[in-house]
Amino acid sequence: ERFWDRLQTETYGELISYVMDIQDGNPAGDNAPFFDEFRVDLRLSEPDYRVGVDEETISSLEALHEDLFFETHTLFSLIGGRYQTSLSNPGRVLPFVDPSGAGAPGVARLSLTGKERGNPELLVRTWASEDAEPVLQRYELTPLPVQDSGLTGVVMAAGVEGLDQVRVRVTVPDSIDRYEEFAARSSESGIDRQFLSVELLEKMLASLRRLHDAGMMEETLAWDRVGSLAVDFRLEKDSIYQKTAFLPRSRTPKTTDNPRLTSGDWEYRGQALVQWDSPMSLAESEDLLAKLGSFPGVNAYFLTESYLGNRVWAADFLPPQGGTYISQAKLNALKPTLFVSGREHANEVSSTNHILRLGELLVTDSAYREMLKKVNVVLHPVTNPDGAELAYARQLVNPDHMLHAGRPGALGTDATSGGSSPDPIYPESRARGMIREAWLPDIYLNPHGYPSHEWVQYFAGYSAWARGRRVGPRTWWVPRGWFIPGFSWVEDEENPDYQTAQFAILDSMAAAVTGNEAVHDMNQRLYARYKKYGEQDRDGFTEYFHNGMVVSMRLRGTESIGNGLNSPRITYFSVTTEAPDETARGDWMDLMGQVGLAHTTSTLRYLATGEFEVEREAEAFDQAVVRKFFRVKPVLPPTDDDEKKDRK
Ligand SMILES: [Zn+2]
Repeated sequence: ERFWDRLQTETYGELISYVMDIQDGNPAGDNAPFFDEFRVDLRLSEPDYRVGVDEETISSLEALHEDLFFETHTLFSLIGGRYQTSLSNPGRVLPFVDPSGAGAPGVARLSLTGKERGNPELLVRTWASEDAEPVLQRYELTPLPVQDSGLTGVVMAAGVEGLDQVRVRVTVPDSIDRYEEFAARSSESGIDRQFLSVELLEKMLASLRRLHDAGMMEETLAWDRVGSLAVDFRLEKDSIYQKTAFLPRSRTPKTTDNPRLTSGDWEYRGQALVQWDSPMSLAESEDLLAKLGSFPGVNAYFLTESYLGNRVWAADFLPPQGGTYISQAKLNALKPTLFVSGREHANEVSSTNHILRLGELLVTDSAYREMLKKVNVVLHPVTNPDGAELAYARQLVNPDHMLHAGRPGALGTDATSGGSSPDPIYPESRARGMIREAWLPDIYLNPHGYPSHEWVQYFAGYSAWARGRRVGPRTWWVPRGWFIPGFSWVEDEENPDYQTAQFAILDSMAAAVTGNEAVHDMNQRLYARYKKYGEQDRDGFTEYFHNGMVVSMRLRGTESIGNGLNSPRITYFSVTTEAPDETARGDWMDLMGQVGLAHTTSTLRYLATGEFEVEREAEAFDQAVVRKFFRVKPVLPPTDDDEKKDRK
């Protein structure tokens, strides 16, 4: 309590002053992150107690980790609230709680690595003569308000690797630099942003060229497979104006080679590959993906880097392919696709293990290999590598803790946030969209997790999950077994097959989850306890079973299958699932692995045994014939022959 008092009164006070100072008293979400790391190293002699009921644990140190993490984010949420802005990506909050040092007095060390100003600034001091005071000029480097540039063309030549030239179009309000005209009325930085001009951007490009020549910033706007960049300037209100500026490739440009995973001289000799005993590090997951990628038909590939520079990978599983070139459109048209993307919240550890186990079975088990002939499978074992790295490192020190500092992306918001914008703060947020756009999956599974024991924060009033002023019904959080936190379906009169498929898949998932005895027993025990202690909360407690599986189901279906990449028209079965796996290991991890694999396999089997039609059409024109084929979604449950005749 002494530590907490000082944190609340002194440390948080200093943190508030710092955040206000660097932003001249005017905090704005656009300036995020505000600091690099706020790190709390605590060594306290406080043991954890397992109470002997499943994974239930009493741990004051775990509670401190949670309080430090969530209360620090709450602080920024409250400052943001007061100034009507969102400060949701303040920086890395790292509560490192060390349980060693039994009997010794506690030690706390707090450090903040920050920045001098909310925005970068260019300072130029000019001396007129040796003894005179220098003249100081400031230029605020806020983002230029330029519209997204568009690729308008490429120049390429036969037999030459790469592109000779890439052309992009940039449209701005003005053609000439207005600084002289308005110099008396505003700052230079302000004028540039009010009247962004071709002249200014052209000079910037010329400056970059001089920097390249001097061997600086050579990877900026220069790529190894692009000869030169042509910028085609246009004006917003003048359709005739056109001017082109060129930037040739620098001497050491940015590489366009993607990183690759290799398994060296590793060979498969029938040994087990994927463990279900402990949480996986990034290195272990990458090593396994590399090994799986050495099997014929498996392509393990790089998607993007993360905010902290870790790498994001996925793997496509197909039967061994004969040809050199593979048509993505043909793969999508001929067979349905299952996409499983895990570890979005990276302290929810078990999904990486069971997704990779599914990958192992797809290449080593004959029943799974058989299903691969009918279904494309795409596995994405770690969505949030920065969180995974942190959660993995902390569970080595605090094996029984929930470790929510490893849950979101590096700065405190979800690692998928901003994923649909062209330039998100977390590059890793784009990974799922890249896969969904390429594969148009029929089924998308997003396995999550939650604490395996009651979540308690002493200093937040014994509640949990408080990140702001308002708290919801999940503020008490007792495990309730494996469940689906939200299920929606479509009741589209014109497309009734969608609803049929959605419930048939849900039914097969329920059968798989309730059919595993060890998993079913665990679910029954945890659910009974949840009901016993939760029922009194009339606002928060809800109960619904679908064929014996806990599902938080919408009250009614939506009326249309909709349109667009993420609509049920494309992906008609899309669920998040919750396993009590924070932080699972040993037998508990094995149980989490079993339920994870059971539910992913049930959907794979559904697609492999279901029925669908591939339709072929041909049309003749004057001199040509157009042939097309396409697959009619959704995949429906198998029918016996009589029924089939009825349907036709
Ligand atoms: Zn989650």
